[in-house]
Amino acid sequence: MEQVIEFFSHLTDTSDWPPRWFCGRWTDFHGWLYIISDLMIWLAYMVIPLVLIRYLFVKKGVPLPGVFWLFGAFILLCGLTHLIDVVIFWIPVYRISALVRFVTGVVSVATVVALFRYFDEAVGLRTSKEYEHELLFRQQAVTELTRSNEELQQFAYVASHDLQSPLKTISNYLKLLNTKYGDQLPADAHKLVETSTKAAERMRILINDLLDFSRVGNEVAFTQVNLNELVTEILEEQQAEIRASGALIDVSPLPTMTAHYTDFKQVFQNLISNGLKYRKPLEPPHLVIQAVDEGDQFCFSIRDNGIGIERQYFERVFQIFQRLHGRNEFSGTGIGLATCKKVIDIYGGQIWIESTVNVGTTFYFTLPKIIKTTHHYAQTDTLYSAN
Ligand code: ADP
Repeated sequence: MEQVIEFFSHLTDTSDWPPRWFCGRWTDFHGWLYIISDLMIWLAYMVIPLVLIRYLFVKKGVPLPGVFWLFGAFILLCGLTHLIDVVIFWIPVYRISALVRFVTGVVSVATVVALFRYFDEAVGLRTSKEYEHELLFRQQAVTELTRSNEELQQFAYVASHDLQSPLKTISNYLKLLNTKYGDQLPADAHKLVETSTKAAERMRILINDLLDFSRVGNEVAFTQVNLNELVTEILEEQQAEIRASGALIDVSPLPTMTAHYTDFKQVFQNLISNGLKYRKPLEPPHLVIQAVDEGDQFCFSIRDNGIGIERQYFERVFQIFQRLHGRNEFSGTGIGLATCKKVIDIYGGQIWIESTVNVGTTFYFTLPKIIKTTHHYAQTDTLYSAN
């Protein structure tokens, strides 16, 4: 213990030894060979961590395991021992040298242990060749998926678009039949014409809804969408329904976002019209529309005091053509919420329901303040900047 205290209290004391030049017999050549070699090793040891640090600055986002930092410290300390060996030729700091060597020894052992621990993880790391292979596979899968998705969209679009024309003909002929020969038709034939006309109207709505669904996300150009104006526009369009039902609608201030106008309109329109439609028979609808700023996203909510939805259907209602009520109870196509989900998914948000049967339903959805769709990612060449 005495020796330890003596060691630390005289840490910088150099009086116990002569400088290395005067210890034994050195020729100039031998001494400088020693010194220059040690200086070169020290310099190399210093440069390695600097190169690694520069790499980290350039290649931002590389995950670093703890072993990396230990390895850096190990290299720096090894370098330091060589520098001290040079210094000792003039100043015999043997105590400091011993201390630095001891710290280097501890860090070296810790690095070896960490390296052994990290070994399995390192073996599991993929090489750039393996990454390239996986990336290629994924790119092919994405291309394939995009193609089949485009085909499907195209199919839905063309089918619904082309169906409009024969449907119009059917509706017009039914109208013509009624005006031209209505007074000659027996009562049950009238009933048949009426049912056919209603079916044709339902089909028109269905086709329009399908068209809207297939169009979602097709538009790449974004504009500034003032959501206050957008909601006011929707409420004006729904004036008849609002007046007839005696609905009360509270709208809190809403933000302006950069997005595609029609996509956003689809979401608000479907949720507002559902809030008005799925009302209780004897109670006028009351809708509350709000937006909460959550930092990098907005959380919107549309609350109603309607018939509510049972918990078991919270997910199902977002699937296309899923309806919880018969046509005779409430009209609809079962496409509205699927369209909302499609828009929100494309824009990187989430949509969910909170509801109590006979009390009301709240639809929540989030939207990032900076919306990026796959179109935008496709335009970005590199994720990391190498400069
Ligand atoms: P649609 O209204 O055309 O039937 P949606 O996709 O908009 O289709 O809704 C799917 C189903 O979810 C509806 O049939 C209805 O049963 C239920 N639903 C939607 N919104 C509400 C609401 N605000 N309150 C109660 N039920 C709702």
